[in-house]
Amino acid sequence: MKIICIGRNYADHIKELSNSFQKEIIFFLKPETAISIKGQPFFIPDFSNNIEHEIEIILKINKVGKFIQEKYAHKYFEEISVGIDFTARDLQNNLKKKGLPWEAAKSFDGSATIGTFIKKDKFDINNLNFSLKKNGIIVQNGNSKSMINNFNKVISYVSNFITLKKGDIIFTGTPSGVSTVKENDVLEGFLENIKLFETKVI
Ligand code: MG
Repeated sequence: MKIICIGRNYADHIKELSNSFQKEIIFFLKPETAISIKGQPFFIPDFSNNIEHEIEIILKINKVGKFIQEKYAHKYFEEISVGIDFTARDLQNNLKKKGLPWEAAKSFDGSATIGTFIKKDKFDINNLNFSLKKNGIIVQNGNSKSMINNFNKVISYVSNFITLKKGDIIFTGTPSGVSTVKENDVLEGFLENIKLFETKVI
């Protein structure tokens, strides 16, 4: 399986990182070794002094698809959750300055926390609240209606380049409020009011 992550999909987060807005979808990959299942701690790696959390709605692909049309994209996922796209922001900023790829900053072991998946049909997926609590306080909250490119657009676009397969996971972008994680922080992810993961930082 593979993990596909969408960048710059919420305007408030683009602003907080002083990135440029573009309508074009940008994506990058994390390998399977990036996954940390809910309940496992997140280990701060030695190579970074600034790991930031990015809470995101995640989708699980349920069948093979290539060149998926936007109008059929909803048939390619049945389950959703929330996860964290952990980012070594110091490394990423250096790589960005040089115009180099981001993998070292985004794809390291443990950089993808995955929450429990739940059926999407219980929800209005175009109006879905999600949030991250750090040590009991909400630090990020967003709503899927604020996405620059919605789930269907993202699936359709990515499938023009990469065949999607059953079990693949798509991270759909983070809203504002990203911040540095520190040892002993407790991170909890919510979709509406349902807690789908809890991770301790070590
Ligand atoms: Mg992200």
